[in-house]
Amino acid sequence: MSIENIPQNGTVIHTLDLWRTYRAGTHQEVHALRGVNLDIKTGSYFALKGRSGSGKTTLLNCIGGLDRPTKGSVRVFGIELKELNDKELTRFYRQNVGFIFQAFGLSPIYTAMENVEIVMQISGKGRKQRRERAEYCLERVGLTKWKNHRIYELSGGQQQRIAIARALANEPKLILADEPTGKLDTATAREIFTLFRQIVEDEGVTVLMAAHDPLVDEYVDLVMQLQDGQLLPPKEN
Ligand code: ADP
Ligand code: MG
Repeated sequence: MSIENIPQNGTVIHTLDLWRTYRAGTHQEVHALRGVNLDIKTGSYFALKGRSGSGKTTLLNCIGGLDRPTKGSVRVFGIELKELNDKELTRFYRQNVGFIFQAFGLSPIYTAMENVEIVMQISGKGRKQRRERAEYCLERVGLTKWKNHRIYELSGGQQQRIAIARALANEPKLILADEPTGKLDTATAREIFTLFRQIVEDEGVTVLMAAHDPLVDEYVDLVMQLQDGQLLPPKEN
């Protein structure tokens, strides 16, 4: 299967016996992931829960091509990641996947609009197309009024909305979010969880979100629980 021609339906993420072992010294090893088998279908909203250190970030990074597994298989849209070189991996993620992090990862001195546009500039979109898509994405997250404000002028909740708008810019089919509400108060966290829900429903995007906030259960289709690098059996929501 070519990376230009990925299927629109079916399995989005598939991991098989995924291990990630960190070396923590000459004789010490940390098994951050210990044989994770994950199967995520298209168009759904998933939460990955588990206490701090259970492996959530490591799993998202392995799925997001930011980290290489020690052992096992990761397929995203049917593509086996270890078969891609770094250049192919970068292009694959740029075209198909949006990332959202706890610390927002925005450029503080640029405006909301510029932060959304920049990722489209990197992927080679023209000026007009960039502008139109950025307008759409900012409207999608309810921040049209704030588009010309610089990031440092915005609240935490607004900044995370900008990060979501930016993740949507290249029309991803999958969004990976690592504790996107970790720095937000409860009411703002609820707004962000609701926004993801709307995006999943309206745009047909799949969202996989690490979150240890118990609130998240009310919003997602499925909660998966990681414990010491292993997935517990799933609970339907
Ligand atoms: P979570 O996101 O659920 O808090 P992490 O994936 O960050 O968990 O961490 C899982 C385990 O792997 C922890 O024991 C952590 O200390 C360890 N770990 C994570 N990254 C590294 C690293 N770069 N080097 C060594 N150990 C790491
Ligand atoms: Mg983490």
